[in-house]
Amino acid sequence: MKGKYRLLLILLLFIVIIIGLALFIALKFLSLDITLLGEKEMTIGLKEEYQEAGVKASYLGKDISASVKIEGKVDTQKEGTYTLTYRIKKNGIEKTVERKITVKDLEPPTITLDGEKEITICNIDSYQEAGYHANDNKDGDITDKVKITKEENKIVYEVSDHNGNTVTETRSLKIDDNKAPVITLSGGEVLSLVIGNAYHELGYKASDNCMGDITKKVKVSGSVNTKKVGTYQITYEVSDLNNHKTTIKRVVNVISRDKAGVIYLTFDDGPKQGTTNVILDILKKEGVKATFFVTNGGPDSLIQREANEGHTVALHTASHQYSKVYASMDAYFKDLESVKDRVKRLTGEEANIIRFPGGSSNTVSKKYSKGIMTKLTKEVLLRGYHYFDWNVSAEDAGGAKTANQVYKNVTSHLSKKRANVVLMHDIKAQTRDALQDIIQYGKMHGYVFEAITYQTPMVTHGVNN
Ligand code: ZN
Repeated sequence: MKGKYRLLLILLLFIVIIIGLALFIALKFLSLDITLLGEKEMTIGLKEEYQEAGVKASYLGKDISASVKIEGKVDTQKEGTYTLTYRIKKNGIEKTVERKITVKDLEPPTITLDGEKEITICNIDSYQEAGYHANDNKDGDITDKVKITKEENKIVYEVSDHNGNTVTETRSLKIDDNKAPVITLSGGEVLSLVIGNAYHELGYKASDNCMGDITKKVKVSGSVNTKKVGTYQITYEVSDLNNHKTTIKRVVNVISRDKAGVIYLTFDDGPKQGTTNVILDILKKEGVKATFFVTNGGPDSLIQREANEGHTVALHTASHQYSKVYASMDAYFKDLESVKDRVKRLTGEEANIIRFPGGSSNTVSKKYSKGIMTKLTKEVLLRGYHYFDWNVSAEDAGGAKTANQVYKNVTSHLSKKRANVVLMHDIKAQTRDALQDIIQYGKMHGYVFEAITYQTPMVTHGVNN
């Protein structure tokens, strides 16, 4: 019996020890505490600094936060999700807590608007996009992703980057007519006209932001007394529907003949049916005399017409073939005399004004005879010819393919400080089509037109061969 009790007692004691031990361990475990400070899950912007919010640890009520070990790292330079593990160990017991940090681009793109941020327009339909750009710190240029919404009084631009960061920008629209019409004058605001010449309106255009082309509504007033030297004004006036009025003036100076500039229109390489005849019509209508440097080509009748209508018929060589005319002195004069004979036969006149094919400055002749231009320019004078080059070129045998280009090349190079010898080709359609406007421009800018005669001082280039 005694032995039985002892065994029971031992067993009991054993159980008590086990329970005590368990209680002791549990107590120890529960006495160790670790708590995160701050958010358990957080998001921070790319390249922003990560601020550690910390952790609090205690054991049996005693602060042991300093012993916490932090494992893991947050790379704020790179997008991603990072985990930090906070670990505390005490008397063989260990506890951990975790924090998840998401690094993400949070910076929205930017939209920049070209032009004004507030614009006034006639109506919403007349709005024309002035342009915009969108940029993102990560995605770069995302202009093509911009969505544009037209609202009643604004344009809204919206764009998002790949992380869904969105930005909007607005341009406000004021629907109103704030602009007066604009009148532009062709041929310039100051004209000069040689006394006795007719005044000719060079043209104008009027446009309005709300009404478009209103040229037909322009009222022109004022007059020019072309018989009296003086300064005159022509007034151009137009109003839009909202009574915005624009008035501009053109000054017309009527000048005496001795203050005029001179233009010698010269036409090479003709005659040619289809162009020369139209050119002659225009010259006749405008009362302008010109000079034609003819070849052996084209119809005889046109050369006769040139002479009959008071123009100077001059010589350009018969064949106009560089290889032929610049082969030698003899070859040149043989060719020249051929066209001279033609002109004599058709007009009865001895033509003594000439132009070298390519001009006296040409270098192409070098290919056929070295130094021939030096010899020819002297020899033609000895034989009684006057030769003319030019100081204004229409470039109609080169780059000027349209009437507008011919017009610009001629009108932009005229000068009152010298006699203007204008090189053109009467075989060119663009020259034919530009001629009327060139003459009008010249007349309205104080020039008179003359044909070259034997009394006209020679205008020559430097010789290059
Ligand atoms: Zn020529």
